[in-house]
Amino acid sequence: MDRQQEFVLRSVEERDIRFIRLWFTDVNGSLKSVAVAPAELESAFSEGIGFDGSAIEGLTRVSEADMLMRPDPATYQVLPWRTDAVSGQGTARMFCDILTPEGTPAASDSRQVLKRVLARAADAGFTFYTHPEVEFYLLADDARKTGVPVPIDSGGFFDHVARGEGQDFRRQAISMLEAMGISVEFSHHEAGPGQNEIDLRYADALSTADNIMTFRTVIKEVAIQQGVYATFMPKPMAGQPGSGMHTHMSLFEGDRNAFHDPGGQYGLSKTGRSFIAGLLHHAHEITAVTNQYVNSYKRLWGGDEAPSYVCWGHNNRSALVRVPMYKPRKAGAARVEYRALDSAANPYLSFALLLAAGLKGVEEGYELPEPTDEDVTRMTPAERKVMGITPLPASLDRALTALEASDLVAETLGEHVVDYLLRDKREEWNQYRAQVTPYELRRHLPVL
Ligand code: GLU
Ligand code: MG
Ligand code: MG
Repeated sequence: MDRQQEFVLRSVEERDIRFIRLWFTDVNGSLKSVAVAPAELESAFSEGIGFDGSAIEGLTRVSEADMLMRPDPATYQVLPWRTDAVSGQGTARMFCDILTPEGTPAASDSRQVLKRVLARAADAGFTFYTHPEVEFYLLADDARKTGVPVPIDSGGFFDHVARGEGQDFRRQAISMLEAMGISVEFSHHEAGPGQNEIDLRYADALSTADNIMTFRTVIKEVAIQQGVYATFMPKPMAGQPGSGMHTHMSLFEGDRNAFHDPGGQYGLSKTGRSFIAGLLHHAHEITAVTNQYVNSYKRLWGGDEAPSYVCWGHNNRSALVRVPMYKPRKAGAARVEYRALDSAANPYLSFALLLAAGLKGVEEGYELPEPTDEDVTRMTPAERKVMGITPLPASLDRALTALEASDLVAETLGEHVVDYLLRDKREEWNQYRAQVTPYELRRHLPVL
C-alpha cells in the first residue's frame, strides 16, 4: 500500500466516514457512483471492485461485462453536503480508473483515454494545463415537472442582481467547491436571464476534468438545496445565449510556459502557434465530442458569442480560438482559449482531443494562418472564403461525418469509444430528424 492509500484509510477512520463513493464517468460524460463501506477499501486499492459494466453507457460489449474499478487515492475528498447531522458520520468520494478483469486499463474508460494522451505529452516533455469557464442556467424548479425553462431572474452580463438568488447560489456553490479543494477564480452573472458563470482555477488537465465532474454535481446539489433547477444544457432557450465551457490551455516544460515568447506576436512562442494551428486544422473532426448533442448546434449557430467559424484572433469573441489579453503580461499566463466546448461535454474526451490536435500541430510544425480581428459572423461567405475561414459543422450529423473520417480521433479515442459514439449519436440524430416540430407546424398550417 502506498502513502496516499494509507492517508485515505487513516482519514476515513479519523473523520468517521461511513460510505466511500466510487465515481467514474461514462462515454457520454455522465457521472456514475457506487458506495462502498470502509472495510472494502483495502481490497479496492489492491484488486479493484468488480461491477457489471454492461449496464453502463459505452463501457463494455456484452461478452465482457465484468469490469473492475480502482479508486485513485489522489482524488479522495469528503463530500461537504453529506455529513449526517445526527451521527456526524460522513461520506467521501474518489474517482476511479476502470480495468478489465485481467487488470489492464479498459479501452472505454474516458479517464484512461485522457491519461493516455497526457502520457504522450509527458514523453515530449510537456504538462498540459487547462481551466474552464463553465456557464449554466438557473431555472425555476418547475422546469423539472413542466419541461419549460423559466429563468430565476432577468439579469444580464455582470449584473449585480439585488439580493438575487443567483448571488446566494454562487456563494454557496463556491464555498462547497473550495471545501472540496477546487479553487474558483471568478464568478458572475452571464448574459442570459438566470445564466451564471463560474471559472475554475487552472490545474493539470486530469484534475480539471475530475473537477468539472465534481462541479456539475455540486451545482446540482446546491440547486436542490435552494429550490431551483440548474441546467448545463447547451442552448435551453432560442434567442438567449447558450452555455459554453470555454477552455483555456497551456503547455509547460518544467516551470516554463512553452506557449510564451516575449518577442512573438501576442507573446506567443512557436510551440504556441503550432498548437493553435493544430486546433484549427482538426476542429471539424473533434466537434462531435466537444459539442455532442443535437442541441449543441443550436448554441454554435445561435449567435450570442458562440463560435461558428474556424479561425483565431486576439481579442476576437467571434473566433473559435482566442489568445486572451493577460495582465500583467507574465510568462506563466500565456494561454489559448478554445471557445466551442459546451457545458454538457465529456471533459475527459474533449481535453484528450484538444491536446492531441494541438500536439499534432506542434509535432508536424503546422503553420498558423493570419489572425482575424473582425467579427467573422458579419463577413460575407465570399470574404470568409478568401481568408480560408471554414464553418464548424452545422449539425450533429455533419460533425459525426467529420469524426468518422478522422485518423486523429481514431488514434486518440480508440476504436471502441469511436464505435460507441457513432452508434449512440447517430441514433440521437435519427430520433431528432423524425420529429415534426412546432416550427414546421407554424410554417405549414394556417392559423385561424
Ligand atoms: N455564452 C457564450 C457561449 O455560448 C459565451 C459568452 C462569453 O464570451 O463568455 O459561448
Ligand atoms: Mg462567459
Ligand atoms: Mg471566455
